[in-house]
Amino acid sequence: MQKDITLKLKPEEAASDSIILSYIASSAGINIDTINGFLIAKKSIDARSKQAWVNLSLKAFINEPFIARARKFFNYPSVQSAAKKVIIVGAGPAGLFAALELIELGIQPIIIERGKDVKARRRDLAKLNKEGIVNPESNYCFGEGGAGTYSDGKLYTRSSKRGSIEKVLQIFYQFGADENVLYQSHPHIGTNKLPQIITAIRQQIIECGGIIHFEKKLVDIQYNGNLIQSITTGDGDQLKADAYILATGHSARDIFKLLDQKNILIEAKPFALGVRIEHPQQIIDSVQYHSPKRNEFLPPASYSLVEQVNGRGVFSFCMCPGGIIAPAATNPGELVVNGWSPSKRNNSFANSGMVVQVSQEDALNYFKQNPTSYPHHSTQQFDTKSPLLLMHFQQAIEQKAFVAGGGNLAAPAQRMADFCNNKQSINLPNCSYNPGLHATPLNEVLPAFIYTSLQGGFNHFGKKMRGFFTNEAVVVATESRTSSPVRIPRDPERLSHPQLMNLFPCAEGAGYAGGIVSAAMDGQKVAISISQQL
Ligand SMILES: Cc1cc2nc3c(=O)[nH]c(=O)nc-3n(C[C@H](O)[C@H](O)[C@H](O)COP(=O)(O)OP(=O)(O)OC[C@H]3O[C@@H](n4cnc5c(N)ncnc54)[C@H](O)[C@@H]3O)c2cc1C
Repeated sequence: MQKDITLKLKPEEAASDSIILSYIASSAGINIDTINGFLIAKKSIDARSKQAWVNLSLKAFINEPFIARARKFFNYPSVQSAAKKVIIVGAGPAGLFAALELIELGIQPIIIERGKDVKARRRDLAKLNKEGIVNPESNYCFGEGGAGTYSDGKLYTRSSKRGSIEKVLQIFYQFGADENVLYQSHPHIGTNKLPQIITAIRQQIIECGGIIHFEKKLVDIQYNGNLIQSITTGDGDQLKADAYILATGHSARDIFKLLDQKNILIEAKPFALGVRIEHPQQIIDSVQYHSPKRNEFLPPASYSLVEQVNGRGVFSFCMCPGGIIAPAATNPGELVVNGWSPSKRNNSFANSGMVVQVSQEDALNYFKQNPTSYPHHSTQQFDTKSPLLLMHFQQAIEQKAFVAGGGNLAAPAQRMADFCNNKQSINLPNCSYNPGLHATPLNEVLPAFIYTSLQGGFNHFGKKMRGFFTNEAVVVATESRTSSPVRIPRDPERLSHPQLMNLFPCAEGAGYAGGIVSAAMDGQKVAISISQQL
């Protein structure tokens, strides 16, 4: 017999299989020897009170053999000689999961990716961190696995309506993620483990007859009427397929410009911009676990904060416990920060994006007040209706931060209380950001509406989470790649572009996803829609 059991245990109890077995026996009123094993269906931590609890939902195998979870959930057939072919631009989570889904549906995927494979990409990241050199084709956003490869690998999303979260997690597990991604309430993989998983997905795609080209970039689109005829890549190839998935992520500014130049409809999309904040992990642990020292059986603590300040949303974003702040720019002369963490989250700092909503009107006002920040301002009047206005605003702030940091990717930064009290920091605390920090009053970098909203937000957060507001925390500019500043519209039923019936804008870059899981789900959804239409 299999029996579902829920338990509420102390962290040290939940870490021991033999203790769990004894609780199962007493909860079911049976002899422990009759239990042949158990599977965890759900695991979450409740740290609201001083005593933290681990909630477990279990399936116990009583008087019947224990069956461990199979790693293989899905079969991928050969599509070598499939009649239909789909070109996927971008090998991020959206592109890779779209490819797997197409294979399941008997369609051959051909992926073109501007960046390098995960192994070669790692060398460019080392250069970025050590020498401050940004390779515009291979960085934290571009390359195999997309922006998700060298990330924290948090695998949770609120967008369950977009597809099956479970299927995405099962695929991650099938290709090598730990079993716990299937049952943790907040699963994460970690930068050290993601590249192997991405490699295994690539191998599967190739084994099935799918094709992946690295260092091959989409640079032009040829269309006639309402159909794309072909696309051109940077090396001069012209490629044709039955359909085209555009999954180029939120940082492919050249793609947004190309679509605009080609009169393919795009729209400005509100996004969020701000800073990354870093605390010693010990401070966050002590606040969240109500104790100066974290119980060794509890994971490094995280937080999620949101507040309305003067009618504007201020919120934490992509929190990385035990993490590292990374230089995530995609072009020289820009300063962008983001965060990642290893699977054990055992670095001594906790970082998180802290961002403020930005609208088209905000960007417009900014350029009215700072006309020289607009690209080509000496020759070109800025276009108030341009769908690229928010993208230009994002880039202008990144460039300002780069200059304020003194070049070489050092990031302008300020201690948290100094930031809120408009005071220059005389010195800065240690920080995980490899290229280094440069003490700078951040009101010289951030527009006033962002700066003051963050000040208000930090004060509120300090009241919600006692201990959060401290001068031991450092505020680092600028967190600007939170989501796409452009939307590529699509028909809600067909998921194709309203002008081009065989172009399928997909995931984060098109404005339909935010994060690894939702991007992967959107890739799957677009693949299914294409298969129905072909
Ligand atoms: C450092 C970091 C940490 C993150 N941490 C997390 C996290 O823990 N959890 C989470 O859910 N999300 C995280 N994110 C966000 C997450 O990675 C993205 O939401 C997700 O990767 C979006 O997937 P995507 O496939 O839509 O686009 P992307 O992952 O951006 O992939 C787009 C791909 O398209 C390629 N491309 C672009 N232009 C072209 C072109 N012209 N031709 C060919 N290829 C092109 C790019 O090189 C890239 O590989 C993080 C992001 C970063 C940068």
